[in-house]
Amino acid sequence: MKIKCPKCKEDAELAPDFSLVTCTKCNLEMSYGEYVRYIAHSDAKYSDILGDYAGSTEGQTSGSLDEWD
Ligand SMILES: [Zn+2]
Repeated sequence: MKIKCPKCKEDAELAPDFSLVTCTKCNLEMSYGEYVRYIAHSDAKYSDILGDYAGSTEGQTSGSLDEWD
């Protein structure tokens, strides 16, 4: 199936058995597990930015989430 390439943002191909992600645009080839970690890493960086924006590096406790209400 078609998925978004995490590298060049073009169409990548996910194998039907979820074993391999390939992108012909940038010659990307990684396992689906690596793909998930790649995405998770990107999300983690995004979360860090949000954390900085909230002005607290100790906001990983459940208490800080209440402030979003
Ligand atoms: Zn690509």
